[in-house]
Amino acid sequence: MNNDIERVLYSEAEIQTRIGEMAKEIEADYQGKRPMVISVLTGAILFTVDLLEKTDLYTTLDFIDVSSYFGAAESSGRVELVRDLKSDVAGKDILICEDIIDSGRTLQYLVDLLKERGAKSIKVATMLDKPAGRDASVTVEADYAGFIVPNEFLVGYGLDYEGYYRNLPYVGVLKPAVYTK
Ligand code: 5GP
Ligand code: MG
Ligand code: MG
Repeated sequence: MNNDIERVLYSEAEIQTRIGEMAKEIEADYQGKRPMVISVLTGAILFTVDLLEKTDLYTTLDFIDVSSYFGAAESSGRVELVRDLKSDVAGKDILICEDIIDSGRTLQYLVDLLKERGAKSIKVATMLDKPAGRDASVTVEADYAGFIVPNEFLVGYGLDYEGYYRNLPYVGVLKPAVYTK
């Protein structure tokens, strides 16, 4: 698996150090509150676990899964709910945990949904932010971002290619040969 990686962008050590900083910032911002963390499946699992482990706060944890469809007839992707939360978000302080924000459509969909359901506050923590990919229709942004990344297709630390590479402890770029196999 490691042989498929052309270039490492963020090493395991860099990622963990950065998450430690984010955890301290989040801790300070949520003093006296008990946020509900919503982890966006599947990519955000590794980030969510590492972030929560480093955060000294009372938190609850729930998961949501959404999919983007890019139909041939559609110019912009449509987001659909694949697996809903178990908990009620009404009146809660919500912290969304994402792996990467690219077009931002997934995040826009989630924020709109949680607002509609009566969340008291909504903040967003993302491991990676790819601002060059942002769709013009998107108005939401991350409150906490680990790294601002270039406009490349990345894998590792939760991010997949055809379901694989999520378990790499670092973030990297695949060798072109992997795509052309
Ligand atoms: P958005 O809705 O912001 O365009 O896309 C968010 C989702 O697209 C991410 O949660 C992730 O699943 C996928 N994605 C966006 N950029 C990348 C990337 O560079 N690599 C991988 N593996 N997935 C990406
Ligand atoms: Mg995601
Ligand atoms: Mg994916």
